[in-house]
Amino acid sequence: MAASGKLSTFRLLPLPSIREIIKLFRLQAAKQLSQNFLLDLRLTDKIVRKAGNLTDAYVYEVGPGPGGITRSILNASVAELLVVEKDTRFIPGLQMLSDAAPGKLRIVHGDVLTFKVEKAFPESLKRPWEDDPPNVHIIGNLPFSVSTPLIIKWLESMSCRDGPFVYGRTQMTLTFQKEVAERLAATTGSKQRSRLSIMAQYLCNVRHIFTIPGRAFVPKPEVDVGVVHFTPLIHPKIEQPFKLVEKVVQNVFQFRRKYCHRGLGMLFPEAQRLESTGRLLELADVDPTLRPCQLSIPQFKSLCDVYRRMCDEDPHLFAYSFREELKQRKSEKKEKEDNEESHRL
Ligand code: SAM
Repeated sequence: MAASGKLSTFRLLPLPSIREIIKLFRLQAAKQLSQNFLLDLRLTDKIVRKAGNLTDAYVYEVGPGPGGITRSILNASVAELLVVEKDTRFIPGLQMLSDAAPGKLRIVHGDVLTFKVEKAFPESLKRPWEDDPPNVHIIGNLPFSVSTPLIIKWLESMSCRDGPFVYGRTQMTLTFQKEVAERLAATTGSKQRSRLSIMAQYLCNVRHIFTIPGRAFVPKPEVDVGVVHFTPLIHPKIEQPFKLVEKVVQNVFQFRRKYCHRGLGMLFPEAQRLESTGRLLELADVDPTLRPCQLSIPQFKSLCDVYRRMCDEDPHLFAYSFREELKQRKSEKKEKEDNEESHRL
């Protein structure tokens, strides 16, 4: 690695523009793969600036495509940039960037949903969780169909401190469909408040930093795009297993317009539903007539803590699924009807 004085003056060697690279390698966006490219380097620079100070940082870019954000990251005096791209068509263009930034860009042809970034960077970067975040950053503009499952996967990794979080409280700057970005950052009582708001905010400081109009992308997507920054919290606001929090939150929001007791009731088998829901709400000190979007994170914490105690008392409770029960009842009913039909024949 070069000395940091040199890094701070680093500039990419002259290169064709992203538009020229797209032409040169015939990189038409695959619409069915939701490939929308950012060609405006002022915008890609802005995304990278908002990611924080990247001097000497190790950066993992997900889905670099033709390399607009990649260039801005390389210009930010990073120590190393690792990019993971699924579509082989982009590799030669990225290779060109790598040649212009010798020793800085590592290109992997792979899938970000399975790539093991925990093995990719030097061990020496690891910081205790309670310390300041490590000098490791994740940045990316992925298709929306990938960014939402990926953030859910990474939130779970964050709760277990594995995957990208073996290095410590790794910060992430990622794009989402604007509505999803708003949901991720929505505060108590707002109409965008949803399952994603709670799952993200109990684990991270979430900031919807800015919105990029759809017209800035080529080709233009139907929607605008939100850039969201995540910094993992030292102390999660709910200290229960991710799957337990997810179950409580999912149940509450499945009836988002009803009082919260309706969704919470579905955590319990029908025979005990009324009594157990009452007990849960009373012990958690939560008003049953609040709507899901009105529940604060401390209220979710109380609900999760009490539900955990109830699961510890009844070992079958956590495995109970209202949807499974419904499915089973339907299939029993069908079997009964089929039997009756065959008796009649
Ligand atoms: N980051 C580039 C930009 O801003 O111009 C490209 C954005 S385009 C919306 C998304 C990119 O992610 C495409 O290059 C696509 O091939 C890549 N991609 C999609 N799914 C991926 C996956 N599972 N793993 C790695 N790359 C993926």
